[in-house]
Amino acid sequence: MDNLINCARCGSDACYVEEVNQDIKTYFCYGCGFQSNSLMTQNSEFLTQQSEVLPELYKDLFFEDPSGMIWMPSAVNLPQQGMIFAMGNNASEWTWAAVKAIPVTEEEKEKYPIPGKEGQYYEWRMDMTTLQNYPERGYIDALSYIGVLPE
Ligand SMILES: [Zn+2]
Repeated sequence: MDNLINCARCGSDACYVEEVNQDIKTYFCYGCGFQSNSLMTQNSEFLTQQSEVLPELYKDLFFEDPSGMIWMPSAVNLPQQGMIFAMGNNASEWTWAAVKAIPVTEEEKEKYPIPGKEGQYYEWRMDMTTLQNYPERGYIDALSYIGVLPE
């Protein structure tokens, strides 16, 4: 069963819970943009694997809730809409960054080849000139900006 609960990290009532199976639940908070799941606990194999690929900032922002679950910033990447990721120097100096996707034009398509596919090009690209920063609690606004949620 899916439902909204209070976020164990920021306290907003916009934390979306999804039950994957009897033992595993995933959590995605639209209030603060952080996510977690039942497997993300201190020293767990899951967390160790994640830590190997996560940017330093994401690790800096790890948050352990009272139940022992670790929360981390989400990273959204939707090829035809845009992306949202945490950006900054450290846990006390960061913002969300939202970037819009735009269609690749005929003139520029040569610059965006699909690796391993001769003669094929991406139809969308991230337009870094659209980058906008949002505060932590502005995560919903960032989602609206790239068109995931209505304005
Ligand atoms: Zn939250």
